[in-house]
Amino acid sequence: MRFQAVGLTDRGYHRPVNEDAYFLSAQRGLTDGGSFFLVADGLGGLAGGAEASHLAVETVSAFLLDSDLSLPERLLESFRQGHRAIVKRQRASPAHQEMATTLTALVLSGGSAWIGNIGDSRTYLMRQGLLHQISLDHSWVAEQVQAGFLSELAARCHPYRNVVTRVLGGLKEPDADIFPIVPQAGDRFLLASDGLFSELPDMILERLAAAPDLGGAAEKLRRAALVRGGYDNITLILIELLEVLLT
Ligand code: CA
Repeated sequence: MRFQAVGLTDRGYHRPVNEDAYFLSAQRGLTDGGSFFLVADGLGGLAGGAEASHLAVETVSAFLLDSDLSLPERLLESFRQGHRAIVKRQRASPAHQEMATTLTALVLSGGSAWIGNIGDSRTYLMRQGLLHQISLDHSWVAEQVQAGFLSELAARCHPYRNVVTRVLGGLKEPDADIFPIVPQAGDRFLLASDGLFSELPDMILERLAAAPDLGGAAEKLRRAALVRGGYDNITLILIELLEVLLT
């Protein structure tokens, strides 16, 4: 699969530190010639959140690069490894007991794409100009919307909108959601932390993510989130598939 990809992160205007982390593997970085992309949003205050997101990204990357398990087992296991690394750090340091992180991941391999997710960062697929959220948020408000107790609009400004219900580093070893995608040339994927999409209505997200030049699209998204307040750290990766070889 041939693609181009661009990633960026911005502290925003209000948070004292950037607790997000991201990673783009080299083209054909995996043992079977695939590539992967990660966005993590750390929780746990100051040093803890940033350490959790970076530790997850490092641990998951190292596992994905080294493992020859089949997909999606490799993806599932990488998330477990990320969780265990965070729990180990929590136990070693009382100051880091609250550290945890979300993680959203995309793996491209052969003619297939796999998305893994824990928490409320998101992976979207843009196909023929329409943006679809593929990952499901593990958040209190998303569960209420799903159960029919809250509207999408009310969820956006609910005081509990930042409550995440499944994380790496929580009490229980979490199972990642895994979503298979059959990719097509021209598809774009957007991985993002909530500092991006919670500032921007879906239609604006869709319009900006479709800008012809990929780097320009990423920059437009970042600026739009800043203009709307930049209340949280903003992180995003955009990937465009140029050619998909069916295997
Ligand atoms: Ca965030």
